[in-house]
Amino acid sequence: MTQSQKVHRRAAVLSIGDELTLGQTLDTNSKWVSERLMDLGIKPVEHVTVPDDLDAHIRVLLRLAHEVDVIISTGGLGPTADDLTRQAVAAASGDVLVEDVISLEEIKAIFTNRKREMPEVNRVQALRPSRARAISNPHGTAPGIHAVIGDVDVFCAPGPPGELFPMFRERISPLLRPEPGRLVRTRIIGCCGIGESEIATRLGSLMDRERNPLVGTTASGGVVTCRVRVEGMMSGLEAEGLLDEAERGIRGKLGVHAFATGHNSLARACVEELKKRKQMLGVVESCTGGMLGAAVTEVAGSSAVFVGGLQTYSNGLKEKLAGVKRETLEKFGAVSREVAREMAVGGCAALGCEWCVSVTGIAGPDGGSVEKPVGTVWIGIAGPHGVVTRRFAMSGERQPVRQWSVTAALGALWMDLHQSDVKMLREQERR
Ligand code: ATP
Ligand code: MG
Repeated sequence: MTQSQKVHRRAAVLSIGDELTLGQTLDTNSKWVSERLMDLGIKPVEHVTVPDDLDAHIRVLLRLAHEVDVIISTGGLGPTADDLTRQAVAAASGDVLVEDVISLEEIKAIFTNRKREMPEVNRVQALRPSRARAISNPHGTAPGIHAVIGDVDVFCAPGPPGELFPMFRERISPLLRPEPGRLVRTRIIGCCGIGESEIATRLGSLMDRERNPLVGTTASGGVVTCRVRVEGMMSGLEAEGLLDEAERGIRGKLGVHAFATGHNSLARACVEELKKRKQMLGVVESCTGGMLGAAVTEVAGSSAVFVGGLQTYSNGLKEKLAGVKRETLEKFGAVSREVAREMAVGGCAALGCEWCVSVTGIAGPDGGSVEKPVGTVWIGIAGPHGVVTRRFAMSGERQPVRQWSVTAALGALWMDLHQSDVKMLREQERR
């Protein structure tokens, strides 16, 4: 084949399939491939998803071949009429399909191993553009393809992750040519109790788009993630040093709001903090129905700090188990500051723990009112210093509201665990 010698600086990741464009399957391959490319120091600059449509597929390949150094595609290598990757790559590289003798033998061998005869439809999987190379696939019947369009390398792998992952690691990755010495490294810092715009204000010039490391933020379900990315000609040690420095800068500006480096969860951060203090936690849940306790117990080793929880969905159980007073329920309603407070304080007593988090809210779709619309959630945190309550106004459907309540509760706990910010929480409560 005509071998491209281009250095692979910029990559595009192409996913193929109607099931992806129609929303029936979530494209997780692109995420995985991009992470691997980043590890290698190759920057993914575009993700494209095309349906099983030959013209669309060819158009995208031709466009990307002008814009990047290497294209990694997944999917469309199956044996059926809707699997068009072979044809698309042949057309885009001005080539014709030929049968690859070795691929055909390998496909036949897979069926022989399964004690079956190769169905005739599978024969098309041995086709490849005449100037391209087949990439052997020991995990399935779809060989990959390495072709060149113009001077851009195109690697096509099958869609099933169980076939893509080993093929990428073992057969494609060794053929990639990242710029020697070039590195791309990332780090993420989880933040809670603070919004994206407040973070941007505090970080100021740290978020300038020309900076290296570059800092960006993403908000999702009550947690804001600061993403730091460094790239350039440098050693791994230098890159880590620059990331460390950026992280120190960010933590300096965000203080206690930064709860974790990496993918560590808020629940884990709270568990670790409680471990340090040798203090125990319990929960009293209404609208989250056990999800908060589940989030805490997802953390391995949480038994050292978590006593358990009460699921007090009904008013009756709020009274009976958590010791909420009937008058409080009648006067203020189950979703109120007063009830959240009594649930948290009562939880500490009933469960015998230093800290208790309570959640009571209206997850919807019914049950809202003008004063307390759907998404109104009260969270109480009782701790050695007293009790703090916070009101949240969440939007969205029932499940996201419940999920967000869990994050909000853990975020409030995290903030309250840090004594220095208790005063601030108290002030917020007074407002
Ligand atoms: P096969 O030989 O299995 O037909 P193929 O290359 O034709 O391989 P597809 O038909 O496109 O692969 O996809 C097969 C399955 O792989 C999909 O049903 C889906 O489960 C999974 N898959 C495909 N693409 C993706 C993707 N981008 N992200 C996650 N899963 C995917
Ligand atoms: Mg397919």
